[in-house]
Amino acid sequence: MAVYSHSRLSTFEQCKLKYKFRYIDKLEVEVEETIEAFLGHVVHSTLEYLYNKKIRENKTLNIDDVVMFFTETWQKEFKQNILINKNHLTDKDYFEMGIRFLLDYYVKNAPFDDGTLETEKKILFPIDENENNFILGYIDRLVLNKKLNRFEIHDYKTGGSIPSKEKFEEDRQLALYSYAIKRMYGFDKEVKLIWHYLAFNQEIQSSRTNDELEDLIKRIKNLIKEIEREKEFPYTKSALCDWCEFKSICPAWQNSVSAQTPSSKDAKKDLEKYPTLLKYIKE
Ligand code: SF4
Repeated sequence: MAVYSHSRLSTFEQCKLKYKFRYIDKLEVEVEETIEAFLGHVVHSTLEYLYNKKIRENKTLNIDDVVMFFTETWQKEFKQNILINKNHLTDKDYFEMGIRFLLDYYVKNAPFDDGTLETEKKILFPIDENENNFILGYIDRLVLNKKLNRFEIHDYKTGGSIPSKEKFEEDRQLALYSYAIKRMYGFDKEVKLIWHYLAFNQEIQSSRTNDELEDLIKRIKNLIKEIEREKEFPYTKSALCDWCEFKSICPAWQNSVSAQTPSSKDAKKDLEKYPTLLKYIKE
């Protein structure tokens, strides 16, 4: 039995050797945490806390409670070795960004009575009839919107750019969650996918038809078959190597005259092959 997440599938699509290092050999390498990832983590934790108070205690936090929780979590978890790549910014700038994201979100969404059922909802379902392989994921927030008679899958983004409309139509991660919710509650139910781009105080919505979801499941089954058949795990060198935790041990970069990023033209071409990953990198 194997458990596949969206990120595991994307890794195989990007570079088979990276997949082998990470999921088969399970190599442990030290990965430096970036300030963007840290900010995303603390904002997610704060929104989780806010909605859990509502679900479990029917309590609406005031804005001071929210800012306090964010500040305390930031101070408790911040480490001096967190990587800040943008020289003109400091950790204080990122801290203030987080506060701004939360203030905007609070004003727009209070009193948070939208029918939230669960935060960080775990999704795990078999992808094949024999239950050999499973899909695993976590929904930031699941809502049953009684007014509009639909389920909603909410996802928070703290990155500094919004992908194109096509990227949302192609997004596999939330589409998989949509399939999981329909599988649980019925394929006749409407499921809306909602991304919150906190830096822009903007929501993007999309949805998938049942036919589109069936097609997606077929494609994932074929991809898993391809993964299971793979013996060689060749590398695929690309601009994405600069974000790969295995670059220092990767044969593609050993003795390379230029262990550098490919030219910007090649890099763009490479990145276009991986729309899903491109989205994360931009963030
Ligand atoms: S550095 Fe590049 S080629 Fe090497 S494993 Fe990572 S993604 Fe693959």
